[in-house]
Amino acid sequence: MSAPQEKAQRAQALRETLDRYNREYYVLDTPSVPDAEYDRLFAELQALEQAYPALATPDSPTRRVGGAPLPELTPVTHRVPMLSINTETDKSAQGALAFDARVRRALGLETDAPAVEYAAELKFDGLAINLRYEDGVLVQAATRGDGQTGEDVTHNVRTIGQIPLRLSGEAPPVIEVRGEIYMRRDAFEALNARQREAGLKTFVNPRNTAAGAIRQLDPAIARQRPLSFFAYGLGETVGWARPGTHAALLDALAAFGFPVCEHRCVSQGVEGLIAFHERIEALRPGLPYDIDGVVYKVNDVRLQEELGFVSREPRWAVAHKYPAQEEMTRLIGIDIQV
Ligand code: NAD
Repeated sequence: MSAPQEKAQRAQALRETLDRYNREYYVLDTPSVPDAEYDRLFAELQALEQAYPALATPDSPTRRVGGAPLPELTPVTHRVPMLSINTETDKSAQGALAFDARVRRALGLETDAPAVEYAAELKFDGLAINLRYEDGVLVQAATRGDGQTGEDVTHNVRTIGQIPLRLSGEAPPVIEVRGEIYMRRDAFEALNARQREAGLKTFVNPRNTAAGAIRQLDPAIARQRPLSFFAYGLGETVGWARPGTHAALLDALAAFGFPVCEHRCVSQGVEGLIAFHERIEALRPGLPYDIDGVVYKVNDVRLQEELGFVSREPRWAVAHKYPAQEEMTRLIGIDIQV
């Protein structure tokens, strides 16, 4: 079905706006709109492209990951692409139910077939990094970039105390560990207090401050901005018998010496995911770092392989988002004034 002209014009306008926001967010580390506004426009474009597939251009922001790498940093081609995650924005249990239904359908499971086993963890609001270890030694750290090509930021990542320069235990010839670099809220507040004292510009939020620090040319700047790390995934491995479940992978990464977040669970079927989403929503304000949701993953690696990928994301994982915190702050502000 060809799209009416006003729909085509709207799709074009959305693509241009989202391209600009992506550049501000991923390349310049200075977003001009809250994430919730970005998410709303992204969902509107996705819905238009679903209703009128002719509007889905190959370079649409709905088909691409992240942003172009900075030309000042050396490009790194990822041996295993670094993808995005499909997002469920429905704030209720519906997000987990919809994911479970999609997984069961894709696996061809009948209604009375046993429950699928899932792993649930936090969706950290930082930036993704690929850490390459050869014979147990950190040899390269690269940002996600556009998913295929990232930036070499090894010089800055070496300044992060939580990232091992050498793995504990018996290390395989090659292992790429993936995770999120983030800034704790207290470190962010302390950094801004120092900026104010020095009469310098303060930073907007921990996520963009962390991303900006990691993409500096001078490691002395990254060293002044205390960063933390959580491991949650794998890139290329050579000569390593990969654990059969996501939960066992996280245990193995912890044994290598990586920080792995304590807030995680394994659930037989969808009920445990719904309970996890509720529990973490209550914990969220008191966490020492920002999260923007929780992530559900099919636990069994063989099932993950069977489910595979669609354009820019795996079919076996979903991010179930919470309301954006900038928006919540604004709402709280309005409540107080009323
Ligand atoms: P995403 O952040 O929604 O999901 C993929 C990323 O999640 C991964 O790359 C990884 O870094 C991260 N992640 C965190 N915890 C994880 C875990 N436990 N397991 C696996 N991955 C985990 O994808 P994206 O495409 O980078 O970002 C899109 C989001 O960025 C949007 O939803 C929007 O909120 C925000 N954004 C905002 C603007 C803006 O202008 N404000 C612009 C672009 C993007």
